[in-house]
Amino acid sequence: MKTIQSVLCILTLSLPTLAVAHSDDTHHRQHGTHVHGEAQASLASIELEVMLTLVVPAGDILGLERAPATTQEAEDITSHLDWLKQARWLDEETARTCQATQRHAFTPLLNSEHSGHADIEVEIHWQCEDTRPRQLDASAFLARYSKIDRIELQWLTQTNHGHSSLNASQPGLRLHSSN
Ligand SMILES: [Zn+2]
Repeated sequence: MKTIQSVLCILTLSLPTLAVAHSDDTHHRQHGTHVHGEAQASLASIELEVMLTLVVPAGDILGLERAPATTQEAEDITSHLDWLKQARWLDEETARTCQATQRHAFTPLLNSEHSGHADIEVEIHWQCEDTRPRQLDASAFLARYSKIDRIELQWLTQTNHGHSSLNASQPGLRLHSSN
């Protein structure tokens, strides 16, 4: 039986523009071009597990896209990474019953040798108790980071899969209507 990680990996491998922070290896991938104003995300909801990955141009989050020049800039980057991995992402009801078992956020900008465009990559893995998650909710993210016009989301559940574009007026994706 496939794990949710391998399912998500298959999902994202079919998307050449979407890089996912599955492992340390992929953290060292080459960063190519990206579209400012646009985040790429993938979400898999299989049984009681949920995995979300988000790849967003660093400049749209940080206001800069270079290695930090001062301690203050480095601390600012770290605090954005912390916010991104602690943000709710799931609807309120789901968030009460699904615990995040892994939260990662990474940007090569914290590597002082980095130059050129850079992304921030976020990966969160939840384990739900007894009910499937109802909804992905990116409203907090989209409200905080107004330079992001939309999130291009590839999603997968046990019964369906598809692509959705999330934005400030439509920040949510319903995953399972009932349990
Ligand atoms: Zn850029």
